[in-house]
Amino acid sequence: MNRRGMILILSSPSGAGKTTIARNVREKEPRLEVSVSVTTRTRRPSEVDGTHYHFITPEKFIRMRDAGDLLEWAEVHGNYYGTPREPVENALAEGRDILFDIDWQGTLQVYDALREDTVSVFILPPSAEELRRRLERRAEDSAETISRRLANAREEIRHWREYDFVIVNHDLEISVRDVQAILVGERNRRARLPDVEAFADQLIADLGRSGAV
Ligand code: 5GP
Repeated sequence: MNRRGMILILSSPSGAGKTTIARNVREKEPRLEVSVSVTTRTRRPSEVDGTHYHFITPEKFIRMRDAGDLLEWAEVHGNYYGTPREPVENALAEGRDILFDIDWQGTLQVYDALREDTVSVFILPPSAEELRRRLERRAEDSAETISRRLANAREEIRHWREYDFVIVNHDLEISVRDVQAILVGERNRRARLPDVEAFADQLIADLGRSGAV
């Protein structure tokens, strides 16, 4: 049965485990695609251009934004990030689901553009200490970056109420299972299955003809 694709947004402050959760969900749900954002941030050594992000100059970012090529965009931790519009519109039209790892500012813009197609999940860290520990363990970032991210975490967490679902990430495996359950449940939402209308009508008609009703 045909259905429209959907957007699954995962948001959290840096260090809450969102990236690890996203990676694990994708291993279990290989059909879930990932939206590759554009960013003006410097590439970390472990990152691959075109896979983790499209790393672009501020000039190019502004050109894309002003041309309407971004579905949403935001300034996060002093850098610009944005979601290219076209791959998302194609995925939705072709019935493919797409995962967004974006912040709350971007989430609100996606709601404005495509609320019916969007399910959002906010991931909270189990405690402030654990968030701090996880950020410090991420050796790729400088001390200054870490302290900026900690300050921003408070602001990000203030927006948890704007999300459809909330997960406290005590245990990676449980969090992954919960995100997967949300995805599977939302795929079966009636509004996402327009063909069911005709299918159910046909069932009712067939049952009437066979004298079963
Ligand atoms: P990082 O620099 O650690 O990869 O990401 C920093 C923050 O930017 C994360 O909270 C991430 O969710 C957010 N982010 C990444 N890509 C996008 C995007 O395309 N749009 C928005 N609004 N936020 C993004």
